[in-house]
Amino acid sequence: MPGDLRETHVAKVARDSGPFEQGTRSDRRHQVMDPWALDIFAAMLTMDTFDAKGRKALVRVDLNVPQDAAGHVTDDTRAKAILPTVRKLINDGGSVILMSHLGRPKGRIVASMSLEPVADHLAVLLGMPVQFASDCIGPDARAKAAALKPGEVLLLENLRFHPEEEAGDEAFSKALSELGDVYVNDAFGTAHRAHASTTVIAKFFPEDKLFGYLMQAEIDSVGKVLDDPERPLVAIVGGSKVSSKLAVLENLIAKCDALIIGGGMANTFIKARGGEVGAGLVEEDLLDTARTVMEKATARNVAVHLPIDVVVADAFNASANTDVCAADQVPDEWMALDIGPESIQAFRDVVLDARTILWNGPMGVFEMAPFQQGTIAMARAVAEATDKGAFSLVGGGDSVAAVNQFGLAGRISHVSTGGGAMLEYLEGRVLPGIAAIQGHG
Ligand code: AMP
Repeated sequence: MPGDLRETHVAKVARDSGPFEQGTRSDRRHQVMDPWALDIFAAMLTMDTFDAKGRKALVRVDLNVPQDAAGHVTDDTRAKAILPTVRKLINDGGSVILMSHLGRPKGRIVASMSLEPVADHLAVLLGMPVQFASDCIGPDARAKAAALKPGEVLLLENLRFHPEEEAGDEAFSKALSELGDVYVNDAFGTAHRAHASTTVIAKFFPEDKLFGYLMQAEIDSVGKVLDDPERPLVAIVGGSKVSSKLAVLENLIAKCDALIIGGGMANTFIKARGGEVGAGLVEEDLLDTARTVMEKATARNVAVHLPIDVVVADAFNASANTDVCAADQVPDEWMALDIGPESIQAFRDVVLDARTILWNGPMGVFEMAPFQQGTIAMARAVAEATDKGAFSLVGGGDSVAAVNQFGLAGRISHVSTGGGAMLEYLEGRVLPGIAAIQGHG
């Protein structure tokens, strides 16, 4: 929105954290970013204010869809999610050049990872032809992009057939950029990667770059939770390990009013408080860390809710013997694989009082029927609170799978499309794909 001087989430993180490390993964080329290099008050184009008439929009999307052996798309959720952006650009009188990755071909051409069948599927969804270029750069892509007329759509072959994509190669980024005259990033799932098509390419569009609708919705949702939540803000964090959620927990206790911890990771917290967790998953090396997290939460007046009772099993499988016991008195040889009925009731009460809810990670091993009641109950509680007017964000892998599996996604304010990207975003990191659009870089 041109002229809008609202402080964005990225800008706020940049301001709050000073110069920072941009992460540890080897594929991040921009290791250290100076947040002041971002023009934090830049007037940005948005999908609503941008007029695509006569423009050739180069749109990074996530068409990494599951396919069967014959190449048929078996789950087109991601393809459907990009339709509003594509339709808006076309309806304006623009043309659309779509680029995406599919699978992990590791820089080589792998026939089974071609995007060609996806072009056919997309054509059905859009109800119009979708052209296909057999390479994402080179003569075929250039010719087809140049010949594209207003209202037409072209899909480029898998970006990751070129090693330069994941390496964030500048010349490759430039070659891609020359296909269009405006850059749209609508691929939140890869926003945490400083790849050519997600980040580096933006520098070739100093003014003409914007987020697609899907990406904007993710950014706005995180903003509603982390920047300016209606209170109380309740965070529900679950899943298997504390280690993978530690940075998220640290960031959340600085912001939320109540923190519900469930799933396997709760064991480490319960043991850190002196409880017996039997053969349940525990990260012994993180007991001190768990204690510190709880102390910090207390110091900040954040109520931490751990399971009161748990469903225990004598083996990690769906036909194991099960029982319910106090969460801090799990017998040796037994393991907690779900939260119990008292925990469900207590957690529900907290969730139903919330005005803003963030949920990341299941309450138990929800993939197995005997251990899914806790996760179902949380999904229902979040949906009920949302029905009553709370804002809810479900993000990060398995909790998204859970709300989809239980048919409750439609009753959640925002279900994130990016697992790893959402996790890093919730850690308070600046995602390179977002910074590249918001900054001038
Ligand atoms: P994460 O990827 O860290 O969000 O963890 C998700 C996984 O945690 C799911 O596959 C669950 O089955 C698993 N999980 C949840 N609760 C438990 C538990 N109590 N013990 C072992 N694994 C669990």
